[in-house]
Amino acid sequence: AQYVAVEEWMQYTKSGIEHYNNYFEIPYPFKKYDQVIVPDFLIGAMENVAAVTFSESYVDRGSSNRFSSQRRAGTILHEMAHMWFGDLVTMNWWNGLWLNESFATLMSSIAVSEATEFDDLWHDFYLSENLTAISADKAVSTHPIEVPVVSSNDFFNVFDSITYDKGASVLNQLSHYIGREDFRLGVSSYLKQHSWGNTELSDFMDSLSTQSGIDLNSWAQDWMYQAGVNQLEAKFGCEAGLITTFSILQTSSESHPTLRNQRVQLGLFSRDDNGVIAAFAALPIEVTGAETVVEDAQGLACPQLALPNYEGWGYAEIKLDDVSMNTIINDSALLGISDPLMRSMVWTALFDAPGNGQMDNNQLLALLVTNMPFETNDRIIRQTLSELVSNLNHLEKLGDRFTFQLTTYSNAAEEQLWDLISRGVIAGADAQSESTLDLRLRYYRGIARSDIALNNLNGLLNDEVTVPGLTIGQGTRWDIINRLAERNYLNIRDLISDEQARDPSDAGRRAYFSAQSALPNLEIKQTWVERFLDTENPLPLSNQRAAMGSIFPPGQEELQLALLPRLTTDLPILAAEKDNYYLQSYGRDLFAGICSREGLEIIAQAISEPDAIGPTLYRFMSENVQSAELCVASKEN
Ligand SMILES: [Zn+2]
Repeated sequence: AQYVAVEEWMQYTKSGIEHYNNYFEIPYPFKKYDQVIVPDFLIGAMENVAAVTFSESYVDRGSSNRFSSQRRAGTILHEMAHMWFGDLVTMNWWNGLWLNESFATLMSSIAVSEATEFDDLWHDFYLSENLTAISADKAVSTHPIEVPVVSSNDFFNVFDSITYDKGASVLNQLSHYIGREDFRLGVSSYLKQHSWGNTELSDFMDSLSTQSGIDLNSWAQDWMYQAGVNQLEAKFGCEAGLITTFSILQTSSESHPTLRNQRVQLGLFSRDDNGVIAAFAALPIEVTGAETVVEDAQGLACPQLALPNYEGWGYAEIKLDDVSMNTIINDSALLGISDPLMRSMVWTALFDAPGNGQMDNNQLLALLVTNMPFETNDRIIRQTLSELVSNLNHLEKLGDRFTFQLTTYSNAAEEQLWDLISRGVIAGADAQSESTLDLRLRYYRGIARSDIALNNLNGLLNDEVTVPGLTIGQGTRWDIINRLAERNYLNIRDLISDEQARDPSDAGRRAYFSAQSALPNLEIKQTWVERFLDTENPLPLSNQRAAMGSIFPPGQEELQLALLPRLTTDLPILAAEKDNYYLQSYGRDLFAGICSREGLEIIAQAISEPDAIGPTLYRFMSENVQSAELCVASKEN
């Protein structure tokens, strides 16, 4: 309890209640509002009427950064939104559950952006909700937002990123489609009309239609009953410095061919003499069909960069046109883009560029490393470092042919990042806040491969290396040890048992199991696998999940391959005896990161009879089969 950020918590709670009273135009409907933090709680939080429960993951032991505060604010306000939408008005049946969750997620984003210190929340909405949704929508397991739910047992696999993140992204798009204020008024009248009652999806859509005067039937068909994400790309021609033709191209994937209507803003950017790239026009347009002609753009100045999802109203992948790509690559213009959200969108398009054949992966890695010291926005620091970590991890999986490339960029990234970290907390012109420092250290752990880098991490543990202003909390200590375990650092087993003695808490026990299972040692991993498969005397689920999450880190694919036959033997038994939370971790974590033909064959065979292994294992394992296929293809390419 000593670690609970009480003041902050109460602050978000109070401003949240006030915000929702105004937004919904209905006073908080219950007599009290309790919030309870529960040990070993399996999900994030639960919106019991007037007594919301939260998992311990909302309590930081030791240092906390801006993102953990924002995450707390987001969840507090998400659950609070359910008091109106979910509790005051409740959907008739489980299939309406997606609307509860999508809606609460969007409401919490609006509340966080308007009622807390995180006024750049839409930047995060793009990075967290939009991009998470897009990647889920491209997975084999994607599904329409609205799906039939036959029994209450079916809903576990519907509670996913499509429900929370795509649902929220699509509702956000809807609010721009009909207008922000009409959306709010429609929601308010829906809640007033159905207070203390039960509803169907059509009740909600009717309220919005009535308020806005827009028929939403075909909109709902395309967005809620069809899976998949569309791609948007600008196409334009100029003469004498002025736009002569401009259109937005829309494409779809073969498996999900629907083209959709949506309202987006087209941002046109130019570069001034100081290298600053800013929008000189933002044109609202309704995208329809394969090509939407933007007549309003004709006669405007020819842009150096065009972005068809300015300010993130839409739900779409953005492919950069050649002119924009050229501006970004050749003039190293990224940092000149003054709006952080737009800078993030351009980065996202660059991450996709090697796959689209628009750029070489080495070029992308070089951009990531060279831009590192100059980026000042924490959200983009996180976005780009996270890409760097996964890009390098991917190279490591690809094996010998890529060793030189891996070493080159991994060393360069380590050096650059450590240089920034070792400056410590700085105020003033080259500021580095405690929160930024914490963030950089987190990704440094993910990148650290060389002896120098691992020694630096170890030095932070035993105080041989100090960084001005950096305090290393218990959670961070364990994270460092976990990385040292993955890389089999000298005397790592002693480090792990010393730390276990030092931290006898519940969280410490989970971290101890994580670190132990991460060791690159077949016998230890075998022992863990048998523990996972033990149906008689299983360890507490939270402990098993901690170990499942770290047993096969990048770089240990051969150990994973050796254990795949054992891991796939008992699937039908597990499906019959274990609960969904267990099966989720089992299917998702233990088969992640496979990148060999042999491994792919084992896991593909294991899911060849979906009925035998049940929907939960099938769902997560089929996603891993898809990733393995892609990885093997790039390895053999
Ligand atoms: Zn919820």
